[in-house]
Amino acid sequence: MLLFDNQSSLTILPSMFIDTHAHIHQHDPVEVAGIIERAEAKNVGAIFTAGTTVTDSRKALELAEQHTRVFAGIGIHPSEITNPISKDDLSQLSNLAISPDVIVMSEIGIDHQDRSPDKDWQEESFYAQINIARNHNLPLIFHIREQGDDYDAHSARDAALSILKETSAGEIGGSAHYFQGRWSFAEKLLDLGFNISFAKTLTRIPDLEETAKKTPDSRLLLETDAYPQPFKKNRSKWTEPCDVPLVSEKLAALRLVTTEDICRTTTENTFTMLGDHGLAVRNILFQKIPE
Ligand SMILES: [Zn+2]
Repeated sequence: MLLFDNQSSLTILPSMFIDTHAHIHQHDPVEVAGIIERAEAKNVGAIFTAGTTVTDSRKALELAEQHTRVFAGIGIHPSEITNPISKDDLSQLSNLAISPDVIVMSEIGIDHQDRSPDKDWQEESFYAQINIARNHNLPLIFHIREQGDDYDAHSARDAALSILKETSAGEIGGSAHYFQGRWSFAEKLLDLGFNISFAKTLTRIPDLEETAKKTPDSRLLLETDAYPQPFKKNRSKWTEPCDVPLVSEKLAALRLVTTEDICRTTTENTFTMLGDHGLAVRNILFQKIPE
C-alpha cells in the first residue's frame, strides 16, 4: 500500500493481519510476550483480546494497556450470565468502555447449548450490552451458538437476529465472530450490516466454504478466538494469534486471490468497522518505514 505522509514524501506501508478476536489475557502472564512475538513474526500486527466477565474485561484492558499491539474488548459472555445482569455490572462495563484501549464490545451474544444460562437472562444482557456499545460507539463482536451439535437448530440464531434487528444494531456495526452458520444465515447478518469473521474452523468444516466464497470482500474479517487450551497436551498445538495466516490461506484458496489480498482487505475492513477507534490500531500497524 502506498500513502503520502504529512511531508508529502512517499511512504510504503506494510500489510499486516489483525486478529479481531482472541482471549490472550487469559493465558499465564509469562506467556503473553511470546504469544505477541510469535504473532508479529507471522505478520499479525494487532490482537483484540475479549473479556468474558466484568473482572475478565478489566484484565483484558490491563493487558491492552501494557502492550501496544493489544487492544481490548469488554463484555459478559452469554455462558457467564449465571445471574441476571446487574446495574453494577453495567456501570462497571460503562466505566471500562471509556478507556481508549477498549475498541470493541466483545464478547457478547446468545448461547443455547445444553448447559447454558437462562435464555431470558442472556437476552436481557445482550440488549443491555448493545446499549452500552451504542453509547460508546463500540462495534459488537458477537457469539451465537446453538444447542449441542445441531447444525440445523435455529433458536440462538433467531433470538440473536431478532435482538440485533430490534435494536438497529447494524448502525453500530461489528461482526459475527467464529462464524459457523450456513450462507442463508450469513446473508441475514450481512443484510443487517455486520461482518463475517472466520477462524481456523474454516480449514476443517466444509459447510463453511460457501459463506467463505460468497461473503463480499468488504465484509470479511479474520480471528483465532485463541485462549488457553490445556486439554491439548502438546503446547505447540494451542491456537494462537500467529495462526491467523492459516485462515487467510484457506480463504485465499477458496476465493482465488492471494493471501496478501486477504490481508489487505480484512485489515481495511477492520478499520472500517472500528471507525474512530481504529486510529490507534492503524498507527501501530502502519508505522512509517525509515527511508
Ligand atoms: Zn471468544
